[in-house]
Amino acid sequence: MKLDFHRLKLRPRESEEFYLQTQGDDKLLAGLGGKFISPLEIEIVVENTGTIFSGRGKLKTELQLPCSRCLRDFSFPLEIDFDLALVEESHNGQYSPDEGFIFFRGEEADIRSAVEEAIFMALPLSPLCRADCKGLCPICGQDLNHTACSCEEQDIDPRWEKLKQLDSERR
Ligand SMILES: [Zn+2]
Ligand SMILES: [Zn+2]
Repeated sequence: MKLDFHRLKLRPRESEEFYLQTQGDDKLLAGLGGKFISPLEIEIVVENTGTIFSGRGKLKTELQLPCSRCLRDFSFPLEIDFDLALVEESHNGQYSPDEGFIFFRGEEADIRSAVEEAIFMALPLSPLCRADCKGLCPICGQDLNHTACSCEEQDIDPRWEKLKQLDSERR
């Protein structure tokens, strides 16, 4: 995921538009059990401000994620705006990566870390196939979005009852 600053470096105070298309790394979604089902499409306008190359980016892709309630895979379109600040490595005394600066050497800047962070921040903690997903029946395991099961609500696992008892005795 590299930007070629060859032309931009010669023109301070000017900006250049970049367009990248690449495959997302499924490892980024491993915690959720998801994967990328469309390429990453990235559009960035970078301005050469003198020392800092300041960028505004737009990222588009589509993920497949398992619903945290019914466990079915569903498609999750992702569209994110993100900012970038790139600095040549020779200035690394003045700027810190902790402040979000990305260092580059020569004429190519790798923006992978910034792109992956933007995706990571946009991931839902508990993905839902739809806001009102009814999930699975805790007793028979049927998908309640498609079938109404006849399990009784009050049919509580006796082991949980025992635990609840112990818990209240302890207080
Ligand atoms: Zn669901
Ligand atoms: Zn049931």
